[in-house]
Amino acid sequence: MVYPDTFQGIAVLAQPEWQSPKKIEFTPRAFEDHDVDIEIVACGVCASDVHTISGGWGECPYPLVVGHEIIGKVIKLGDKCTTGLTLGQRVGVGAQAWACLACPQCGSDNEVYCPHLRDTYGSKYPDGTVMQGGYASHARVHEFFVFPIPDSIPTNLAAPMMCAGATTFSPLIRNGAGPGKKVGILGIGGLGHFGIIWAKALGAEVWAISRSNAKKEDALALGADGYIATAEENWDEAHLRTFDLIVNCANSSALDLPKYIDLCKVNGRFICVGLPEGDGFLIKPFNMMHNAALFGFSHIATRKEILQMLDLAAEKNLKPWVELLPVGEAGCSEALKRCYSHDVRYRFTLTDFEKEFA
Ligand SMILES: [Zn+2]
Ligand SMILES: [Zn+2]
Repeated sequence: MVYPDTFQGIAVLAQPEWQSPKKIEFTPRAFEDHDVDIEIVACGVCASDVHTISGGWGECPYPLVVGHEIIGKVIKLGDKCTTGLTLGQRVGVGAQAWACLACPQCGSDNEVYCPHLRDTYGSKYPDGTVMQGGYASHARVHEFFVFPIPDSIPTNLAAPMMCAGATTFSPLIRNGAGPGKKVGILGIGGLGHFGIIWAKALGAEVWAISRSNAKKEDALALGADGYIATAEENWDEAHLRTFDLIVNCANSSALDLPKYIDLCKVNGRFICVGLPEGDGFLIKPFNMMHNAALFGFSHIATRKEILQMLDLAAEKNLKPWVELLPVGEAGCSEALKRCYSHDVRYRFTLTDFEKEFA
């Protein structure tokens, strides 16, 4: 059996085997009136995929197909679809695949903060089906979470925009990144490299902040105006109370937080998008009152923000740095292992779906 009865995917079967995913066939949830079926052609690899299937964020249902940076083509549209998608159209799906679309959050373009939000993979659909991600032949997603990809963005570059791109774009535009603002991007990996690209395109003065100078050349090539290496002595002195916004993309809770908070201007903002494993940050009131800085978090991005991000990327010809690997047991295994050890510049896109799932 194959589509439309079953989909194929590269799944992790149990936590101890997370580095050795296997090809499986699975039954998707029943097709509903607002659903879109997508034949997948590429999928980015997110650190969330690794945190989830390795058990780092707690329990998850197995077998699980991860992947929430999906690009594919529309092959079926529900009878009540109204967002204007057409058969054959190239579309993307990110980390969110469902929300109630009826609560105050959903009604104010904040559906990413819907209390009933469902993730693209690992969440349970109302009928009990475990939702499966994009290392797969197909995806079945509510139309609201399916986004047309502008023609000028290549598929393999569009894929990582769907989660890493969105996750860094939202806090930048919500917190005023733009001309006349000094913005810090802390942690230069998959997320941080997008942070530099977007913040620069939005017109801000962008500073990359990293431990060593190892990523200096890359950060400047990506568009950073300046670079701070925190391993250097007195690295913070020249920047105290000067940042309007710092977006923390680091995947670690072992940050010297007071030092970073002190970089913020009065009422400056320090916003985290990385979700490190473990207990998280220790915030001491005494560290926060020197500059009345605001400390916060941000979660992926809304439909409106994702569409705005794609328009900006198309208009300014913005390009993430992507390494390609073929989807399949070997390719997914390599992607997950190398992502776990941060051995990627700066994002993987899985390709060759038509060969693997022919
Ligand atoms: Zn809602
Ligand atoms: Zn992600």
